[in-house]
Amino acid sequence: MKDTSLGLYLHIPFCLQKCNYCDFCSFPAQGEETKHAYVQALCRELEESAIKAADYTVDTVFFGGGTPTCLSTADLVALCDHIRRHYRLACDVEWTSEANPATVDEGKLRAMREAGINRISLGMQSANENELALLGRVHRPPDVYASVEALHKVGFQNWSLDLMFGIPAQTAESFAHSLDEAIALAPTHISAYSLQIEEGTPFYRERDALPLPDEDTEAAMAALLYQKMAKAGYHRYEISNFARPGFESRHNLRYWRMRDYLGFGITAHSCFAHERFYNREGLADYIRDPLGAREREETLTPATREYETVMLGLRLSAGIDDDTFATTFGYGFFEKYGARLAPFLAAGLARREGKKTCLTADGMALSNAILAEILED
Ligand code: SF4
Repeated sequence: MKDTSLGLYLHIPFCLQKCNYCDFCSFPAQGEETKHAYVQALCRELEESAIKAADYTVDTVFFGGGTPTCLSTADLVALCDHIRRHYRLACDVEWTSEANPATVDEGKLRAMREAGINRISLGMQSANENELALLGRVHRPPDVYASVEALHKVGFQNWSLDLMFGIPAQTAESFAHSLDEAIALAPTHISAYSLQIEEGTPFYRERDALPLPDEDTEAAMAALLYQKMAKAGYHRYEISNFARPGFESRHNLRYWRMRDYLGFGITAHSCFAHERFYNREGLADYIRDPLGAREREETLTPATREYETVMLGLRLSAGIDDDTFATTFGYGFFEKYGARLAPFLAAGLARREGKKTCLTADGMALSNAILAEILED
């Protein structure tokens, strides 16, 4: 049966200031007029795509960026209203907005909640002032605590904290402190990614001088992360994501499960009806002609879909189910890949649970190498 559920991603490319490690498409300090014009362009693009989504029910919406909460409250609410007006939403839609702790207060959060947003993803990154300063983050630890207090007052029950490890000047002890502080705030979800030094960023230019933790320290941080998450009752449902049962990010699961989504705004990607397309960069061009920003990327062949289903599915602790796989590809996952998986199963790096195959915690640490072997031509 055809899956007629859909996810929407809206890219809001504005931030208060640019972080030293960031290679996302985001611009610091744009005026209110530019941001408002961008929201109007987004509304036009949303409207245009609504026709092709007419037979779909939207069950996840994600405002990402950038910093969506850099928009004025009125623009955020207008955007939500526009989505409601033009798309059919599931009654249990998961509607997330990323937020920078320096950009939310009770009033804005209340308006967002009333407009339909029911999940907040807060970029905490670290509980240590010096690390946040080195990262070039605009917020400080007290901003996180104030934001969480405001989330509670407004009644958000589903919210996530983002953390980073492997950041300059960080030690295993200071990361343990960040983890303890995050857990004490009791979010429903925690993401923890290791810092990547991306080309074109200030960190890349200074990479030789950065006081980055060595490999052993970073491995110790990863071990601490897994221990503390498990002890606090957060299950690792994806390599870098942890949740209380039932609070996994449904929108991100949509990406990992290769399900349809439409992206709006500059650089946003879409995967819809086996077609991939994206919007070009260029803020002024997009504001002038949002419908002219789109570029076709590729048609997903069955071989590409299978490759990506395996690659993304094994990132998840739930792994890949033989029957679900067979519904799409005509043969079970284990039937096709069992022989290649055998050494990893024997080594305790992969596991079979009924008809499901997944990587173990040790296997997840080696996922790139394992996937390369499994997916080799
Ligand atoms: S807040 Fe996020 S998107 Fe904005 S500059 Fe920092 S890392 Fe990049």
